[in-house]
Amino acid sequence: MECSKCRRKAVVQQRYSGLRLCETHFLEDVERKIKRRLRKEIKLRSGDVLAVALSGGKDSSVLLYVLCEIFRQRRDINVVAITVDEGIEGYRAKYVRRARKLADELSVDLFLFSFEDEFGMTLDEIVQAAKLDADLRDKAPCTFCGVLRKTLLNRVGRELGVAAIATAHNLDDEAQTILMNYIRGDITRLFRHSVRSEKFVPRVKPLRDVPEEEVALYGMLKGLEIEFEECPYKRLSFRFEILSWLNDFERRHPGTRYSILRGFERLVQDGGRHFELKSCERCGEPCAGDLCQACKLLSKVLPKVSA
Ligand code: SF4
Repeated sequence: MECSKCRRKAVVQQRYSGLRLCETHFLEDVERKIKRRLRKEIKLRSGDVLAVALSGGKDSSVLLYVLCEIFRQRRDINVVAITVDEGIEGYRAKYVRRARKLADELSVDLFLFSFEDEFGMTLDEIVQAAKLDADLRDKAPCTFCGVLRKTLLNRVGRELGVAAIATAHNLDDEAQTILMNYIRGDITRLFRHSVRSEKFVPRVKPLRDVPEEEVALYGMLKGLEIEFEECPYKRLSFRFEILSWLNDFERRHPGTRYSILRGFERLVQDGGRHFELKSCERCGEPCAGDLCQACKLLSKVLPKVSA
């Protein structure tokens, strides 16, 4: 199989674009998509700090690597990493070690925070406590994990004074999230991230246009140590059901993930303007209602953990 742009051997066939790409053209293609997304989503000024949410998994490792490469030429922008240890027995510690190792190799400052220190309990404890609450017992662990991690990243990003937080959501993650919110009819969540607020540290998702399998291939070709171990809670999530369905659909109809993302972005250009944010009555973090999701959740599980 030959590259569509030169005669070299292709390493990937992009069914959604009809192209076959050799290693050089594939790496260029991924980097072009990342740079285009960065230009579209954020304008960094001299002296700014850009934080990368680094879990130590393949996506965030690739993201940190690429951003370090991009900003190597701009010494006035400082790239740092923020790692959150949710407290998942037998799983997270290995990724935290990996995150530290990569940050050291790339000479990036890493700031480590944990659910246990910040919220008084690990994710494992929250999951156990939630089983004792009638309203929470049917919720998947990823729901608690996602809400608390977002809140924590926003808070520490603000405290560290970073200009933006880059998260490693790839094309698959984004298409899944959009579908999940459509299926739930959750308009608030659908538009929340398109709304700007002084209290929200701007988020940027540079991998948004890169399919998951291409992120993994990019990492392997660059020699990054990539782990494919799955979080023990992943298969309990609604996202996992959507993921399986979407992968099957993408196989049969290449380009589905891009269509979902592009359609949503067109919708946001108009609909998102009418969405307003308030401040949480308890912690002051931005939210759509009177209390933010994190405070609602913590007020239910904390008494059960300490009981
Ligand atoms: Fe958290 Fe779910 Fe990701 Fe595990 S799979 S780290 S529980 S969001």
